[in-house]
Amino acid sequence: MKLEELLAKCPKCGSQDKTAQRRMLDEHLAHAELKAIVCAKCGHVFEFHDHKEN
Ligand SMILES: [Zn+2]
Repeated sequence: MKLEELLAKCPKCGSQDKTAQRRMLDEHLAHAELKAIVCAKCGHVFEFHDHKEN
């Protein structure tokens, strides 16, 4: 997740407010993996790139 992706406007509503959804992988280690970035306003799920390139 790059900073510019976090700052990108929602294509649906134009909001820059986002919510990061994470899923807990191990509660003992408290390790969380990023699951999705969703628009806080309309719920649009942003596509984002990991370390992979296509
Ligand atoms: Zn939106």
